[in-house]
Amino acid sequence: MEDMLLLKLGEIVLKGLNRRQFEMKLMANINRRLKAYGTFRTYCIQSTVYVEPENADFDMDGALEAARCIFGIASISRAAACEKDKDAIVETARRYLADSFRSARSFKVESRRSDKRFPMTSIQLSQYVGGLLSEAFPDVPVDVHDPDLTVFVEVRDLAAYVHGPAIPGAGGMPVGSNGRAVSLLSGGIDSPVSTYMIAKRGISIYPVHFFSFPYTSELAKQKVVDLAGILTRYCGRMNVIVVPFTHIQEEIREKCPEEYFTLIMRRFMMRIAEKLAEMHNARALVTGENLGQVASQTMEAMACTQAPIRLPVLQPLIGMDKEEIVTMARKIGTFETSILPYEDCCTVFTPRHPKTKPIPEEVERAESVLDIASLVEEAVAGIERIRVGE
Ligand code: ATP
Ligand code: MG
Repeated sequence: MEDMLLLKLGEIVLKGLNRRQFEMKLMANINRRLKAYGTFRTYCIQSTVYVEPENADFDMDGALEAARCIFGIASISRAAACEKDKDAIVETARRYLADSFRSARSFKVESRRSDKRFPMTSIQLSQYVGGLLSEAFPDVPVDVHDPDLTVFVEVRDLAAYVHGPAIPGAGGMPVGSNGRAVSLLSGGIDSPVSTYMIAKRGISIYPVHFFSFPYTSELAKQKVVDLAGILTRYCGRMNVIVVPFTHIQEEIREKCPEEYFTLIMRRFMMRIAEKLAEMHNARALVTGENLGQVASQTMEAMACTQAPIRLPVLQPLIGMDKEEIVTMARKIGTFETSILPYEDCCTVFTPRHPKTKPIPEEVERAESVLDIASLVEEAVAGIERIRVGE
């Protein structure tokens, strides 16, 4: 009896002519992410990806956990494959689902057959399998209306498959199928979530972190690398780009009015991120900004922050409540790392009275004493790349 996974495709099935490209991206992502758990044969037929171990040395629990994080998959069934024969199906269900039967109060069988040459109709097959299973598990009655356990039987092209209820997949679209974006990744709670949300739409991500050594420590940098590492479960392998930001911050502190520190600093982040985006063919920036959360996230401040650049800034958290963001951070596994106490560069020179309604011309005037172009160039020249993920 073969333990395997059936992955049902999500939104890709709505795609028309370029559907094949989406599928190929998804297959490549699946193959890469499952590699650590064994050697699998994977193929896609009619909106389902089949994942079958090629030898006895595999970790199906690990493969299942990994598959749950791959964007483009709507649902996952861990299944047993068997011969397309009614008695083989019964025997497989009896053995494979024995544990589920032990705890179930009632059950029903639901059959589907895409192989129309199979000699029984779906209803006949369900009745046959259900009858024999209720003999095998006499304590578990059949309940076709509200069963505790549904046994699924699928008769497909190459084999029959038996499984219990499917679990939800990560949804979204395959990473890499919709282009690239540069995501500004701090060590906070928000930006890992915003990165996740944009990756979910099929975007491959370049995380960028602005690092102010020695004002922020090596530990703060490591925290961001760790967060990126957690995100690779969803985003796949990435290169974290670490930008040296100390000189810029010191220049701002020395030469600009305090009330504009944060805004001017954020405008530098945007300019540098845009340059990096150009270098990597990325079409947008991503931030974890959230309307009204802090002084730099009013509508006026965000307009000011984005004014120096042309690329769109995607802010997927813009309308969420903090609590919703935290719930999501917990779900994707970044929360515990995000709340480690290392400071971010934004908190290093925080003005006592930041402008919440800045006037763009005033900010421009305030920063005009700086040699913006050469500071940006210097920062870009000093980047470090750290590879995370498979
Ligand atoms: P987060 O929880 O993501 O740190 P935040 O609520 O602390 O967000 P800000 O500090 O105002 O908000 O930063 C807004 C956004 O700017 C962040 O979500 C992130 O996208 C980006 N950002 C802030 N600091 C950095 C940094 N040091 N490196 C990279 N991006 C940063
Ligand atoms: Mg922050």
